[in-house]
Amino acid sequence: MQIKRLKLSGFKSFVEPAELRIEPGLTGVVGPNGCGKSNLLEAIRWVMGENSPKSMRSGGMEDVIFAGTESRPPRDFAEVVLHAEDDDGEDLDVTRRIERGAGSAYRVNGNDVRAKDVSLTFADAATGAHSPALVSQGKIAQVIAAKPAERRQMLEEAAGIAGLHVRRRDAESK
Ligand code: ATP
Ligand code: MG
Repeated sequence: MQIKRLKLSGFKSFVEPAELRIEPGLTGVVGPNGCGKSNLLEAIRWVMGENSPKSMRSGGMEDVIFAGTESRPPRDFAEVVLHAEDDDGEDLDVTRRIERGAGSAYRVNGNDVRAKDVSLTFADAATGAHSPALVSQGKIAQVIAAKPAERRQMLEEAAGIAGLHVRRRDAESK
């Protein structure tokens, strides 16, 4: 799967709608401290279904919504749209939107879907929210210091079999 474009609106520091094109190959994000580099990577994880406040560096999920500054009022919602092309060359459009007091909603190619459907789509394509393809600050040191079980999990994400474990856990809990 190849991520092609990303649109952000009201997500963390990306208050005004912003659109980015992501070219094939390795992409690095550079800029001064506090300009939103980590926020950008978090937006990619978030639209792929990430729900852990820790990996979003927030207390609660609504904290991803632009909280306002001295000169700008806060926003009521945050939205991230990811345009990708899957391995068969088909377009994949994933939207996640969160509104204050209303929680998250997901759409895939215009259809309302469950959070789980989105997570599975990316896990099967080995590009999920925990994908080793997304290298954030401190990640290299984390890989070096990881325990064997954690390292195995990273390898499984990379190998594209993480989705199988999700389905197995799901089946075992029924
Ligand atoms: P560094 O180089 O220090 O790692 P960075 O480019 O990774 O910086 P980020 O951590 O992505 O920067 O961005 C931090 C900025 O995002 C801070 O100014 C912070 O106030 C802002 N920010 C985070 N969440 C929100 C929010 N919900 N509303 C408004 N601004 C936010
Ligand atoms: Mg950062």
